[in-house]
Amino acid sequence: MDLYLTNTLTRKKEAFTPIESGKVGLYSCGPTVYYYAHIGNLRAFTFADILRRTLMMNGYEVMHVMNITDVGHLVGDGDDGEDKLEKGAKRDGKTAWEIAQFYTDAFMRDMAKLNILTPNKLPRATEHIEEQIQMIEDLEKNGYAYRTSDGVYFDTSKLETYGRLSGQKIDEKEEGARIGIHSEKKNLSDFALWKLSVPGAHSEHAEGSKRQMEWESPWGVGFPGWHIECSAMSTAYLGHTFDIHTGGIDHIPVHHENELAQTEGAFGTLQAKYWLHNEFVQIDGGKMSKSLGNAYALHELEERGFDPLAFRYFVLGAHYRSSINFTFDALEAAQNALKSIRSMVREFDPHGGAVDEGLYARFQQAMNDDLNTPVALAVLHETVKNDALPLKTKAATVRRIDQVLGLGLEDYIGRTVEAPLEVLALVEAREKARKEKHWEESDRLRDEIKTLGFVVRDGEDGPELQEV
Ligand code: AMP
Ligand code: ZN
Repeated sequence: MDLYLTNTLTRKKEAFTPIESGKVGLYSCGPTVYYYAHIGNLRAFTFADILRRTLMMNGYEVMHVMNITDVGHLVGDGDDGEDKLEKGAKRDGKTAWEIAQFYTDAFMRDMAKLNILTPNKLPRATEHIEEQIQMIEDLEKNGYAYRTSDGVYFDTSKLETYGRLSGQKIDEKEEGARIGIHSEKKNLSDFALWKLSVPGAHSEHAEGSKRQMEWESPWGVGFPGWHIECSAMSTAYLGHTFDIHTGGIDHIPVHHENELAQTEGAFGTLQAKYWLHNEFVQIDGGKMSKSLGNAYALHELEERGFDPLAFRYFVLGAHYRSSINFTFDALEAAQNALKSIRSMVREFDPHGGAVDEGLYARFQQAMNDDLNTPVALAVLHETVKNDALPLKTKAATVRRIDQVLGLGLEDYIGRTVEAPLEVLALVEAREKARKEKHWEESDRLRDEIKTLGFVVRDGEDGPELQEV
């Protein structure tokens, strides 16, 4: 069965063929660790994980690399503004290095809670400064770079293919228009490769204290530009051309366009063959932003009583190329759907079943059709609810499907509810009250049991407990 993926570069849904048979090099733009990842970022990482698991389902050995941006991103989309890490350091009263470590740890915890497989490599930008400098030197040597008073820039007019990913012509670039023209830039779309941290440069921090993160370079003490880390680190771990590059759609016109340009300028190669982009998360039908207070982090969802995997289920409910509208009601619906699956799989027989090939083939077909997770979830529901299937077959099929969906169902398959003794005692008391026809008392006990997180149902063989 072929795997079809929509490639932003060719604007087509294409059958995937790897560069090296049986193997896939996958690079995903990772977090900027100056604050907690918000649910939009988490959608991007969940999408990359679903892609990786689908590749594995197809028998590929995947080398997944995700960068940790722990330096240099400026607050603006362009090359202006305050450095995000230095800003985070000021906000939290820590050093930029401490901030990077703190939010990298938080990110790793979020990934684990969302059942996202840990990438094989998680290179940090600060640990690959030498490779970035080397690449800028290559660009200079090949005639794609020029110096200004505040750094080194990429000359986009020198690269004929510039704009191929987004389809924009050089002078149409919005970003340049929005931030105003840097007086020494030759073209609006030119971007910084290296920025000098000498006082007197135009960026904000230059007026104040010395930067915490800066390095020696052939051009002077400074720090790398926004995009060079991904070209340098993807080359270091995956080679001059690798299979698939992922990120959110915001990366298409600037970050990914520039990554492609740098790799082509330095090595004359196409950085990646397939470029996949997830659409955005919207909140209550509008934009998500820190200033609106709605750029929720995972721990904020947990504080409101949500299971992180309910968020994963919510994300899978939409195709990655559709924008998804986050509301707490929608998250609650996702959580309820997940809970109902969990309670049903508890009844399954976990031992010795064989996968139902018909259902699994339909599941694979959905995933191989450009990662159609809404259809794949429908197949999961159908499997769980199909009373014609033996309980063993259901267990084996759900287990196989969930290797790709990653909803953590293995923890529930065939596991009866382990209720605390306190709850069991209340259930017993309620049974007694019912037998004695003390209905009011029995209802009161049922409510008390509910406050402890369990629902009692009166089945044929006596009371049954389910988690709320
Ligand atoms: P950043 O830390 O800003 O580099 O973002 C990390 C990843 O999250 C990138 O792939 C972005 O494209 C993606 N991203 C940022 N905002 C959103 C959003 N609202 N919805 C979905 N993905 C997003
Ligand atoms: Zn990147």
